[in-house]
Amino acid sequence: MTTIAPLFRKHRGQTATIVGMGPSLLRLRARDFPPGPVITLNHAILTVRSLHLPNPLYVMQKDGCMPHNGQADVPLSCACPSDRLVPLLRGETAIFSAAESPDCYPNHRPRFVIDVEGDFGLPWSSMSAPVAALLADWMGCTSILMVGHDAYTRNDYRRAAPNGGSNRGYRHASVQAKYYAEKHGVAIRWYDPPHTWHGGRVMNR
Ligand SMILES: [Zn+2]
Repeated sequence: MTTIAPLFRKHRGQTATIVGMGPSLLRLRARDFPPGPVITLNHAILTVRSLHLPNPLYVMQKDGCMPHNGQADVPLSCACPSDRLVPLLRGETAIFSAAESPDCYPNHRPRFVIDVEGDFGLPWSSMSAPVAALLADWMGCTSILMVGHDAYTRNDYRRAAPNGGSNRGYRHASVQAKYYAEKHGVAIRWYDPPHTWHGGRVMNR
């Protein structure tokens, strides 16, 4: 296991873009991304990597390869590769969770494991968005752009392919991300690409 210590202040003063799994994910274009590190959540990397961005890519797959249904006592033996995780490509930085995915893709480099409780003081079962916001703060970023978080921007709780389904908890994940970013003095805003129905507004809400 590798701690996130080497990432401390690695991107100081930069903007981190945190990419969620909402339907607008599928409409993102390369020009929607400002310079700075990009943190993709779960399967969002599949879309983001197809854009061939010049940005550093942090691929967070906190949830791991084994369904645990939020139960801390479910044993976490790694079963990678599985449909729950995307194999990483060369040049992508892997971000896993000590509680949920400590042994996933052990040979990939660079590879870092967040101790969500020890590093950030959040419950291990927290959703990916607030954990990513605190990772951005840890890396020294002074602003965050949230894209693909449709549950927050337009009450659309659907999850983009290939997972599908929906999760009303995603809205709460953005609320938590906002709370923790602002608590740490990091500016945070949401953006949907222009061909979604409300036309590419940048929202501060
Ligand atoms: Zn695994």
